[in-house]
Amino acid sequence: MLRAQVRLALPEWIHEVVEQADVCATDADKVAFAIELSRRNIHAQTGGPFGAAVFGPDDHLVAVGVNRVLPQSTSVAHAEIMAYLLAQQGLGRARLNERADGSHFGPYVLATSSQPCCQCYGATIWAGIDRLLIGARSSDVESLTEFDEGPLPEDWIGELGKRGIEVVQDLHRQRACAVLSEYGAHGGKRY
Ligand SMILES: [Zn+2]
Repeated sequence: MLRAQVRLALPEWIHEVVEQADVCATDADKVAFAIELSRRNIHAQTGGPFGAAVFGPDDHLVAVGVNRVLPQSTSVAHAEIMAYLLAQQGLGRARLNERADGSHFGPYVLATSSQPCCQCYGATIWAGIDRLLIGARSSDVESLTEFDEGPLPEDWIGELGKRGIEVVQDLHRQRACAVLSEYGAHGGKRY
């Protein structure tokens, strides 16, 4: 019989980490939290070296995500996608920053340990966020690990800007790179 629903889940340890981060006031704090998720994910051997978190008005944590591709046998289960899915289903809105009557509500922010790949870039356009905060760059991901980040528009930041999404890069970049390096040094196999 064909399946008619999907089930994706974050690892159990997520609950411990989330209790410590109800509010992250600054951009740097938000990305530091996403990087901590990425670090925990490889140490717990629960997925790849990527973490992300959605914050809503007043800097409150709405949802988190970590890479679950291999544990869940699902190529789309990247950290950003997991965070968007959980935020949208938790709030009951397909676009986080848009009410049912179309009015804007926010700001909603995605903090991610590494620059979104081409899949997560596309998802970001329709997720309903106002700001995108990034740790490591895609060039870091590709030089420190074997992941292919895929093609992006040449002016990927400008394309997001046209859609009302502000991008801030290089927040705790070295800390994010350290997690990628640790993962890459083990060929991704130990984890
Ligand atoms: Zn991705």
